[in-house]
Amino acid sequence: MGQKKENFDKKGTNTKKCDKCGKEASITLGYGPHYFCENHFINFFENRFRKTIRKYNLIEQGEKILIALSGGKDSTVILFLLAKYYKKGRELEALIIDEGVKGYRDKSVKTAEENCKNLGIKYKIISFKKEFGVTNDEIMPLIEKNPKLGGTCAFCGTLRRNIMNKYAKRIGAKKLATGHNLDDEVQSFVMNVFNNDFERMKRMGAGAGIIEHQGFVKRIKPLYETPEKEIIAYCAFKGIKHYSEECCPYSWTAKRNEYREMLNTFEDRFPGTQYSILR
Ligand code: SF4
Repeated sequence: MGQKKENFDKKGTNTKKCDKCGKEASITLGYGPHYFCENHFINFFENRFRKTIRKYNLIEQGEKILIALSGGKDSTVILFLLAKYYKKGRELEALIIDEGVKGYRDKSVKTAEENCKNLGIKYKIISFKKEFGVTNDEIMPLIEKNPKLGGTCAFCGTLRRNIMNKYAKRIGAKKLATGHNLDDEVQSFVMNVFNNDFERMKRMGAGAGIIEHQGFVKRIKPLYETPEKEIIAYCAFKGIKHYSEECCPYSWTAKRNEYREMLNTFEDRFPGTQYSILR
């Protein structure tokens, strides 16, 4: 991913050429490897997004789709691409959840709102405070002090899923689109292996969730086969505004961070590792 030093000659010209048109490459994808100019990378990225939706039958004609929008890169790309390719003949709506994290979520909520307005997508903001009477800022210090209550993100994620599911049911959405990408999915898989958690593993996939139960709305992950670094590159090439300044102050305790680091090391040394695990 990105551009390696050894790809450039002494004059600073990229010696790698786009696989499609032979122009100077703007991006290198380590697996393959593949080289693309900006335009052909954008085509490649968007085609894979649509192919994932077709391959796993994630969206059907006329279905109402609720997009779980945080304002970060992943869910913002979902918002843009669903608006671009799947708005016709369907109702799209975004749900923005405000967990109540000062200096972080208040800013990302603003970015999410702006993008919805610019794209003409209806949206709803629901806060933890209104729904459960507490903000993350009020409850997380207590959870951090008492590990028996579980991890901060696990707690927050449960509350968030509760809101997403209830709201999706309320508006009659058939699918709930989330921003999970390839890296997230592979991390979850390896975590489940390490924890010997077969029940969770069974619920994984591009169309995830407790799909058999009528009380739950099916979750879909259109970025299931898209590496995180490529989402960053796509946002940069397309000039998509998303929130990326701060991380949530409660995320540092998440076990997932360790898995991310380990898998990134593998991917850097052995490109294609994440796809192998996914398959
Ligand atoms: Fe919640 Fe963790 Fe996300 Fe922060 S990083 S908003 S605590 S799930």
